[in-house]
Amino acid sequence: MTSVTASDAIETFRDEVRRWAARIGVEAREIRVRAMKRKWASASTAGRLTFNEELLGQRQERRAEVIVHELVHLKVGNHGPLSGIWSGLTSERAGVRLSFLNPGMS
Ligand SMILES: [Zn+2]
Repeated sequence: MTSVTASDAIETFRDEVRRWAARIGVEAREIRVRAMKRKWASASTAGRLTFNEELLGQRQERRAEVIVHELVHLKVGNHGPLSGIWSGLTSERAGVRLSFLNPGMS
């Protein structure tokens, strides 16, 4: 993904992630987009989010689900009970349906 069109799409996607982050009240220090084989996205404890480039072609609801899931990980790093509570609060606030049982997210 090196064309101008692709980098525009990535920048638009980054803006989308930043808007969700502001809505949820977390800060994503770094937002990366790259090819990933088995996952939609991942979050590092240092606040770096990495998204599968294939997500850019998914429908808006799917993107929101993955983005918000990863943003919750900036608050709760694992899939334990606290992530379930946070997920519930966040999905209510953000108006999206979240599932921490969804495969392909970490
Ligand atoms: Zn997760």
